[in-house]
Amino acid sequence: MAFELDVPKNDWSFPNKGAIESEEKLYYHAMTKKDVEAKLKKNDVIIIPVGSTENHGNAGPIGEDTFICTRMAEMVARKTGATIASPIWYGSHPFHHIGQPLTVPLPDQVFIDYLRAIMTGLWNTGFRKQIFISMHGQEYSLPVAIQEWGKKYQVPAMFYFVDLPRVMAETLMDKKHGGPYDRPFQHACEAEQSLSLALFPEFCDQASAENTDVKGILPPFHIDRGGDIYGYPIPGHCVIGNAGIECHTAPEGVLGHAKDADPAKAKASVERVCDYLVKLHNDILAACPVGTLPPAEFMSQRPKEEVEALLKGPMQKGGRHIYTVAWPT
Ligand SMILES: [Zn+2]
Repeated sequence: MAFELDVPKNDWSFPNKGAIESEEKLYYHAMTKKDVEAKLKKNDVIIIPVGSTENHGNAGPIGEDTFICTRMAEMVARKTGATIASPIWYGSHPFHHIGQPLTVPLPDQVFIDYLRAIMTGLWNTGFRKQIFISMHGQEYSLPVAIQEWGKKYQVPAMFYFVDLPRVMAETLMDKKHGGPYDRPFQHACEAEQSLSLALFPEFCDQASAENTDVKGILPPFHIDRGGDIYGYPIPGHCVIGNAGIECHTAPEGVLGHAKDADPAKAKASVERVCDYLVKLHNDILAACPVGTLPPAEFMSQRPKEEVEALLKGPMQKGGRHIYTVAWPT
């Protein structure tokens, strides 16, 4: 077992209909100004789904990484009352993805700047407790966005990046390591396709699933597998030259045995992530109830009056917007 996840278990039912355009108003983009003002009085936590636009072969949709995040965020938002930000559809990619048709990678610096601008706008609105979730790695770029935001603005905030494979841990592993799958999680494989079938079967075409076998240059022990969940010495994003470029080595867009996918195998991963996110949300609000943040002197040596004005925001008397400190470039 990777780590003990001792959090209360909730009842979950899925798959559900997607809510991006739903009048349920789980999403920031579906709300009016009045809705946001009312929401911020009740719950100031926002979940930001960070996905990608990439080739997932014949069986899974191009937006798979985004949908995995949005469908679970929707389950958590219904349970907690947190808001969901508009998903980030395009993402950052490792070197070996580049050139794969269907995949639309952003330059890392563009992605990091884009995230920082989103953090700033949401903070300025009053969503100062931000939970970023990703199933697409980006574990070399998302933390940079958060760290640079903190260093640039130096104001109270609670930002978290939750790397979902890490939370799924052994529920995403192969049978040899206590998981449900025949092979380790890679990409558009048995594991990822199982998650997709469990969460959005309407976008999947399981009858067209394909199997591929991928080999690295070095023996398997050195470089960690998809999601970096095995704890091998070198995480996957810390290397180039161990896997060929996928447009050459995996033109199918699949790294693994998508034919073996089964939604039942992904149930534990989905429940584990949702249970964890509920716990994280609840612990954030228990530590800092709605409208409050860690004490300013905890996070900043900016002049007290300046931080107070920024915390009041642009609309309150004596307040100012965060862009008066810096533009988020
Ligand atoms: Zn994916």
